[in-house]
Amino acid sequence: MFVNQSNLIYAFSKENKPVLQVDSGTQVVIETCDCFENQIVSEDVSYHAMDWDKVNPATGPIFVNGAVAGDILAVTIDEIELAEQGVMAVSPGMGVLGDCIEEFEAKLIPIRDGKAVFNDKIEFPLNPMIGVIGVAPKDGAVSCGTPGSHGGNMDNKMITTGATLYFPVHADGALFALGDLHAAMGDGEIGVTGIEIAAKVTVTLKVIKGFSIENPILESEEFISTIASEETLDLAVKRSVEDMVAFLEERIDLSFNQINMLCSAVGQTQICQVVDPLVTARFLFPKWVLGKYGSGIF
Ligand code: CA
Ligand code: ZN
Repeated sequence: MFVNQSNLIYAFSKENKPVLQVDSGTQVVIETCDCFENQIVSEDVSYHAMDWDKVNPATGPIFVNGAVAGDILAVTIDEIELAEQGVMAVSPGMGVLGDCIEEFEAKLIPIRDGKAVFNDKIEFPLNPMIGVIGVAPKDGAVSCGTPGSHGGNMDNKMITTGATLYFPVHADGALFALGDLHAAMGDGEIGVTGIEIAAKVTVTLKVIKGFSIENPILESEEFISTIASEETLDLAVKRSVEDMVAFLEERIDLSFNQINMLCSAVGQTQICQVVDPLVTARFLFPKWVLGKYGSGIF
């Protein structure tokens, strides 16, 4: 199954018309534009020449048969294939130091031999990841630039090959979409862009019945991770920890206090991004502990 990059949405919503319908367990290849919808082809581009309504497009949505409100959609990232060139940009008002930036500047960054070529002195390894990924939210339309309980622009560098994301389903078919790939990005994404790049992403979509979640959860080889997007980092950290403790209470036969101690000892609070309309934090907990109590994820 394949969805090409002409099938774009700019907001996640139950109202979006599906561009593909698949059974649970299907593998789909999704072609994505970069977050500027591939508009920056030269470093000479001016801010005003760009169509800023065309940012953060996601490819989709995909209707997954059998998914209904209250289910979970599990999305495994099987493969990420990047284009040969990425782009970064800075602009007044954008990012942590946006108030100090005087003019818009774009930079093309070739990808060569698995490395990002920043200039003739600096090349660095890639950490390919997905910036925007999610399902239809419970209410209304949420711009693809904003993260939330439905996923969206979480800019979480753990969303990469091998990871599985779990999303709360709110609409029939879940209405899954993704976009905004980064060839490399650091925690925080302080300048508002990673190395923005078009890509082809292969995912497997599976409906899980019998469990419900309120916010996205990520599973990596070693960790289970809650993800929370809020107005402030303090609130995002708090909610990611609350969600993790609640998740563990249902799976580990220990008191609330003991689980707090365990999370404080072996859990990790980490920042995803601090530059989008809501900021995003994650809390990681090692999966081997669940194994000790004979518990799986879902
Ligand atoms: Ca992003
Ligand atoms: Zn991006």
